[in-house]
Amino acid sequence: MKEISKKKFRRQCIICHKKSYYISEHGLCGNCMKEKILLARSQIKSKEGEIYEKWKTNLSESLERFAR
Ligand SMILES: [Zn+2]
Repeated sequence: MKEISKKKFRRQCIICHKKSYYISEHGLCGNCMKEKILLARSQIKSKEGEIYEKWKTNLSESLERFAR
């Protein structure tokens, strides 16, 4: 029997575990996404931290791809 998934179900945020209809593809709710963006911005500004290192790697990778 085929299941009918017409009903929209709420997903859970991976950080605050709040259920929301608005969960990003990374599993974050709107609030946590905002927090993460703010954190990333401050890390990029201060040029240190886990997010900055990741961002730097991603950026150089895409730049390399672009240069080819
Ligand atoms: Zn959240």
